Amino acid sequence: MRDLPQAFLDKMKGLLKEQYSDFIEIYREPPNQGLMVNTLKIDVKDFFTMVPFSLTPVPWAEGGFYYGYEDRPGKHPYYDAGLYYIQEPSAMAPARLLQVKPGHKVLDLCAAPGGKAFQLAADLKNKGFLIANEIDAARVRVLGENLERMGVKNVVITRETPDRLAMVFDSYFDRILVDAPCSGEGMFRKNPEVRSMWSATLPDRCSRRQKDILKEAARMLAPGGKMVYSTCTISPEENEEVVDWFLKQHQDFYLVETGGFDWFDRGLPEWTERNPELAKTFRIWPHRIKGEGHFIAVFERKPNGKIRSLPLFYKRWGLRKGCPEYESFVKENICQEVEGPLYLHRNQLYWISESLPDLGDLRVFRPGFNLGEIRKGRFIPSHALALALKKQQVFQSVDLPANSPEVRRYINGQTLNGFKGKGWVLVTVDGYSLGWARLSDGLMKNHYPKGLRRILPDYADGDKPY
Ligand code: SAM
Repeated sequence: MRDLPQAFLDKMKGLLKEQYSDFIEIYREPPNQGLMVNTLKIDVKDFFTMVPFSLTPVPWAEGGFYYGYEDRPGKHPYYDAGLYYIQEPSAMAPARLLQVKPGHKVLDLCAAPGGKAFQLAADLKNKGFLIANEIDAARVRVLGENLERMGVKNVVITRETPDRLAMVFDSYFDRILVDAPCSGEGMFRKNPEVRSMWSATLPDRCSRRQKDILKEAARMLAPGGKMVYSTCTISPEENEEVVDWFLKQHQDFYLVETGGFDWFDRGLPEWTERNPELAKTFRIWPHRIKGEGHFIAVFERKPNGKIRSLPLFYKRWGLRKGCPEYESFVKENICQEVEGPLYLHRNQLYWISESLPDLGDLRVFRPGFNLGEIRKGRFIPSHALALALKKQQVFQSVDLPANSPEVRRYINGQTLNGFKGKGWVLVTVDGYSLGWARLSDGLMKNHYPKGLRRILPDYADGDKPY
């Protein structure tokens, strides 16, 4: 509590009045820790019985769990297999409230590091597509790695400004998430470093940027579509005020009431010009529920108006004759191939969602699901392909138990020995894919990506390993 900015404390005291003492107490307690199960890979029930963590369900997010303070899910090989995403429990709410259904065209405008993008993709169940956009070059890489680990296939990753996206996607998406950059006050407990970046003028500066982003997002929503605006901050300037401003500027948008009030508080009209509609927004208070501070507004666009359709990507750029190198790899290794249009860019082969529109001259970081690369007339499968495949889909796999030294050695990039067979093999942990290796002469040569290799703790070190 000592290093919370004084101007922040004074402001909170004025805003919260008699609730202030409860609010301030939360900084004496550790933050709640959560994970979201990856239903693209595993059933929630199976997951629950399989993992060694002490889990309790997060009531507002199916598949979301609190884990115990002793647990270390980030150090478990199931993390590398993408069976879950470590996500703060309040942060699980915005994607759920957007109500994405399979087949939707979805935009996550501010997507890195990708927790909510992964939730949106899981709700799509690989039908329809997600454009996950991130403006920052370093963060877009992390976004790519995370979505790859989660085995998401129908995602395109762009690195664009909202106004350039809006020029292409006018009135187009069924669902848009704007998880806006903010002053991060709701994260002061979880990430104390955010406190030192805060200043009394930051909420106003963030508010201006949020309005700019939201205005462009609104252009891209199809009539009848839904849009969620969310922040992890407390200041009214970045929350009720932004929504109030937005509603005044956009007469064809209105706030919708969804079921979340069973758990969350309402937004506060009295913190702005008393627009009563603002009571339809959500406030997630860390002293009222088990989660950090968030704000969420769910908008709908009136259904009158034209939904834009765009020319399809695969019709223009898709391979006309297939890819022989990939086809011979499939014949030798895969019993159930990834079906659908293919796109070859330089030497990288991608699978493309059939409904994906032409992306014009947008800056694209990943145009689709990267299957692998053509190198010297051969197909080299990607790590993304390994992580999206199930054990039953390949001819050859090696299963390593989660608590075995072999799995730790594999994730650490070492060669393993004592294995029969020849050629590509899918390495799995307790049946869930981890990556590729190549078998030859009893050796299993490691193809786990160099950038992802790491040392996992050992049971033998006496600590609780995970
Ligand atoms: N939705 C993410 C998740 O669940 O993992 C977290 C998003 S974070 C709150 C906001 C993101 O917006 C940051 O990654 C930031 O780089 C990005 N951003 C910053 N300025 C932006 C802008 N003008 N347009 C779009 N995104 C922006």
